[in-house]
Parts: sequence; C-alpha cells; structure tokens
Amino acid sequence: MQFIEALKLRSKLLFLFLLVTIGLFSVGIIGALNIDSMKKNLDSLYFGSLVPVVELNKILQIYHGNITNTIYKAKNASISNSQVSSQIQNALMKVKYQWRSYESHFKRDGELQYVEYAASEIKDTNAYFENILLGILNGNELKNISIVNFEKQMEHIHSTIKKLINYEVEVAKYERKKFLKIYESVMLNVGIILLLVILGILIISFYVFKSIQDDHTKLEITTKKLQRANKKLENVSYTDVLTSLHNRRYFNFIYDRELKRAKRTKSYITFMMLDIDFFKQYNDTYGHIEGDFALKSVAKVLKDSLQRPSDYVFRLGGEEFGVILIDTDESNSAKLARDICDAIRGRKIKHETSTVNDYLTISIGIVCCIADEALNEDILISRADEMLYKAKDGGRDGYTITTNISESTTKVEEEKGA
Ligand code: GH3
Ligand code: MG
Ligand code: MG
Repeated sequence: MQFIEALKLRSKLLFLFLLVTIGLFSVGIIGALNIDSMKKNLDSLYFGSLVPVVELNKILQIYHGNITNTIYKAKNASISNSQVSSQIQNALMKVKYQWRSYESHFKRDGELQYVEYAASEIKDTNAYFENILLGILNGNELKNISIVNFEKQMEHIHSTIKKLINYEVEVAKYERKKFLKIYESVMLNVGIILLLVILGILIISFYVFKSIQDDHTKLEITTKKLQRANKKLENVSYTDVLTSLHNRRYFNFIYDRELKRAKRTKSYITFMMLDIDFFKQYNDTYGHIEGDFALKSVAKVLKDSLQRPSDYVFRLGGEEFGVILIDTDESNSAKLARDICDAIRGRKIKHETSTVNDYLTISIGIVCCIADEALNEDILISRADEMLYKAKDGGRDGYTITTNISESTTKVEEEKGA
C-alpha cells in the first residue's frame, strides 16, 4: 500500500475510479458470459426435477407394469393366489405413496379441482383392485376376472392420469415462459443500472478531475505570481534605489561567491573601488539634487563600460562604487579603469569647484590578482581602499593598481587623467 501513499491526490482518485469502473465492467462482462448457463441452471432447477410429473408417471408405471402383469399372470393361473394378493397389495401401497407425494407439491387454485377428481378416480381404481383382493380371500377363481372390465378400468385411470400429466406440463411451460420473461427483464434492468452507475462514475470523475485541474491551475498561477513577487522583492532588496545598480547587500553576496569560485579555479579576480572627486564641493556648489543626478550619470557610465556577464558594478554607499571583474588580467583591468575615468570626464558634468578638472572626475583603486587558497577575504577590499587613497593622493582623476596582495607598501602603477 506504500505505492498508493506515494501517489498524488489526482492519481489516487484516478486509481480509485479506475478500480471501481474496472470492477463494475468485470461484473457486467462475467454476468453477460454466464447469463445463459445461469438461465439454464435455474430453468432445470425449477422446471426439470421439481415438476411433479415424476410421481404421476410412476403411478402409471405401477398400474401398467406391476398390476397389469400380475392380473394377466393370475388370469393364466401362472402364479398362486397368495402371490397375486401380495403383489397387488404391494403395488396399491406404492400407488398411494406416490399419490401422497404428488399431492404434497404446491397446487394452484384452478388445478385443485382436477386433482380432487383424479384422486377420486385413483381411489375408485384402487377400490376395484381391493375388490379383486377381497374376492381372492373369499376363494374366487381369478381366471373369472373380466379382462374387458379390467382394461376399461385401466384405460380410464390411464387417461385421467395422462390428462393430469399434460396439465402439469402445460402449467410448467407457461410458468417457464413467465419465469424467462421476468428473468430477462431483471437482467436487462441489472445491465441498465450497471451502465448508469458506470456512466455516473465517469461523469463524477470528470467533474472531480476538472475541479482538481482548475484548483491546480489556480495554484500554479498563484505560485507563479508569488515567485514573480518574490523575485521582484529580491531584486528590490539587492538594488540601489537611486542608481538602480546592485547595492552593498548584493555586493557582499557576489564578492563571497566570486572569490570562492576564483580560488577554486585559480583564476584572475579584480576588485575596483571608485570614489567621485570633490563630491562634497559638488553638492555644496550645485545642491544635493544635482548631486543625485551626477551619481546617476556616473552609474550609467559604469554600467555602459562594464557589460560582460561576469562584470559586476555596485554602489557601495555615498559616492563610492565597487566593481568586480572575473578572468581579467592586470593590463585589461587597468585599461578598463582608464576608460571609466575617461568616460566620466567625457560626460562633461560641470564641476567648477574641482581643483582637478572643469568637469566631474573619479578616482579608482584597483587590486588584481590570481586567487589562491591563501587569499584573505578582506585583503582585496583593504588593498583596493589603499589604492584609492593613493590615487587621490596622486592627484585624483586616475587609477592606481596593484597585484600584490600581501604588503601594504607595494609596487604601484598609477595613472593620472588628462
Ligand atoms: P574626495 O575627492 O577626497 O573623495 O573628496 P569628497 O568631497 O568626495 O570627499 P568625501 O568622499 O568625503 O565626500 C563624500 C560626499 O558625497 C559627502 C556627501 O555630501 C556626498 N554624498 C554621499 N552620498 C550622497 C548621495 O546619495 N547624494 C548626494 N547628492 N551626495 C552624496
Ligand atoms: Mg567618498
Ligand atoms: Mg569623494
């Protein structure tokens, strides 16, 4: 029964409906295959052995066999008087016994009258033979028995009993016809009911499955909506509202994941820390709203400059941004940083109070290395931070890159913007 438990609700119901339908069909088929033999059995049970013509035939046999033989033998004097007497007595007892047995069967009203008539005729016939027996006791000569009278008597009782037999057979035929008619109509009704039940089960199953299917579809739609809402929520929780870049939360997640991956594959990983130059002054000069616009412009430049699927850009907070590059060596990382500085300056966002340029600029600190097991998780960030300060100290609007992740006094390549 474990396999039933393992099934889904729909399959369980399908299994149940199939079982019931197959069961009902099997009953129908077995019934149809056996209907004829059942009919035959019932027929012979009711109208074969139970039709009470057996006793009547036996009575005829006794009269025509036992008694007639005895009478003819007596007439020819081939048996003694005592033999005749005992044989006739015996035969008459048998006749009485068979008649009592015949009478004990159920009789219909119309039949009773004729049965009573036949009973009196048998009584008369028996009295006729008892009379002969009495004659024997009184020493009458048996050869004096009138064969004409005897044959008349026999003929009369024969036709009486034969009529009774015919009547019984006719009644049985009639009853049989009636029985077969009822039997066939009962079987037809059973068949119709069976078909209606199967049809009912099929209709109910259809509606049950339809409603399950509808529920399932609704559930699927709701689940999809929920998944979409979750995805949106997840995106919102990973997105910076102002710039639409990934936020610090997502940075933590990606930084961890990519660092592990780089360590595993022993490949290049680059981390850049970007900071807008003299942004405080920018805000002071143009106001915070303009400052926000400038932040959005910088974000757009970063997005446009880093378009590989393995490039990640984040707003880490304030006017600081972070970039993670995968499988990018030192020279390519430096080239990208230079392009970013050029692109931001190229946006020509007026910055009158900047001592570096007439336009808004950015400084970048970069660390680029091949990751190995020994790589400390915090070192990339702290080294990038150091490089950023170096870039600032070096005059801003440029980048500083290092490949050394173990010392703080390192060979550093710096580039100053135009
Ligand atoms: P430096 O070149 O040394 O980086 O000079 P700075 O003026 O940029 O110095 P600092 O990084 O300390 O200044 C950050 C300024 O960025 C302070 C704040 O006014 C501004 N800022 C931070 N977040 C936002 C923001 O969401 N919107 C706006 N408009 N300004 C911001
Ligand atoms: Mg800053
Ligand atoms: Mg700054």
